[in-house]
Amino acid sequence: MSDSNKKTSSGNHDGIYDVIVVGAGAAGVGVAISLQHVGIENFVIVDRDTVGASFAAWPAETRFITPSFPSNSIGMLDLNSVAIGVSPAYNMRVEHPTGAEFAEHLQSLANYFELPVKENTNVTSIEKDGEVFHVQTESGLMKAKHVIWSAGEYQYPSLSGFAGVEHCRHTATVAKYGDLEGDDFLIIGGYESGIDAAYHLARNDKQVRVFDMEGPWESQSSDPSIALSTYSFERMRHEKFDQNVQLHANTIVTLVNHVDDTYQVTTGDGQTFTSKVAPLFAGGFDGSHKFVSHLFNTRDDGFPEINENDESTITPGMYLCGPSVRHDGHIFCFIFKYRQRFAIVAQAIASAMGLPTDEFIEAYKSWGMYLDDLSCCGQECLTC
Ligand SMILES: Cc1cc2nc3c(=O)[nH]c(=O)nc-3n(C[C@H](O)[C@H](O)[C@H](O)COP(=O)(O)OP(=O)(O)OC[C@H]3O[C@@H](n4cnc5c(N)ncnc54)[C@H](O)[C@@H]3O)c2cc1C
Repeated sequence: MSDSNKKTSSGNHDGIYDVIVVGAGAAGVGVAISLQHVGIENFVIVDRDTVGASFAAWPAETRFITPSFPSNSIGMLDLNSVAIGVSPAYNMRVEHPTGAEFAEHLQSLANYFELPVKENTNVTSIEKDGEVFHVQTESGLMKAKHVIWSAGEYQYPSLSGFAGVEHCRHTATVAKYGDLEGDDFLIIGGYESGIDAAYHLARNDKQVRVFDMEGPWESQSSDPSIALSTYSFERMRHEKFDQNVQLHANTIVTLVNHVDDTYQVTTGDGQTFTSKVAPLFAGGFDGSHKFVSHLFNTRDDGFPEINENDESTITPGMYLCGPSVRHDGHIFCFIFKYRQRFAIVAQAIASAMGLPTDEFIEAYKSWGMYLDDLSCCGQECLTC
């Protein structure tokens, strides 16, 4: 974008920000860079922890399933990039970064773009009073004309679905699979996190059973939101996975009991499996959007209802960014999917503020970072 006709918003008039972004993960950092590109200056990102904190909390062995490649030079944005011109592959020289590595990458972006981040600032409530949002944090009240909710899913794990689920341990609470004690592991949930756990445990010579009510490893879908990734299929061919892991597809867990020092997992077909170790639950996340559900209508599937600008249909000025974004049957759960909506949100806010957006949109479109026409996408493809 040339600087010549670039108009920007600046100045924090009356202590009211133009935009508060809640959450400094991949979505928050990415959308903040879009805000900066479109010329919005009077904004802040708040995070209850530090930039990239959720990634930093991944189990130590867990790596990105989506590969990074320095393809930007031929106009194809690195799959794991959150901003135009940025390549985690080039930045880190790693194809499948660990969570800790990606957290560091996000921190380097926040520094490079000089993003205004307030860390250790936990948002406890958001209300709209007239035209202004009151964002209450543990360090005081903040006000803004627009709020972007990008607080992610990882820190809001789901622990529900069957009786006795409280006896299980969510995979999001595991610091390192290599440190887990015990020989026999029962994993409930066989999508990416469940298979990832099984792979690392199997490599440590643990015996593992994975139960899934469907069986993503058998799915013929091309959509990585539904089927397993290539990276996981590749790892499932490891000889230790073959030796140590038993996969139970179409097997629903109905009950988990903890009797004496033994955990019992009962499945829908009446079988019982036992282990001395608490079963690992890889059943997904409730997501942070529940926290702001009063500001959105709720879709039938529980996700927030948003308009074509990813703005709440009932609270103007309240936006959603990240893996909770849903439009009809389209799921934006990976970075290379949800990043295509950052510019839509930035454009909507900039237009409301009277800033020009034509050059901005052109630049983002040329990098495949502006997806406004979902009709071109099948249910399974959101990267068109
Ligand atoms: C194990 C795992 C592997 C994945 N692998 C891939 C992959 O390979 N490729 C891919 O594209 N995607 C992957 N994903 C999906 C997706 O990219 C991640 O879920 C990603 O972290 C989403 O980014 P986010 O910014 O929405 O959320 P987060 O990274 O969780 O960021 C949210 C931020 O908000 C902050 N926050 C939360 N609540 C509050 C609050 N109340 N007040 C203030 N701050 C708050 C948190 O501290 C956090 O820093 C994976 C997900 C998981 C769980």
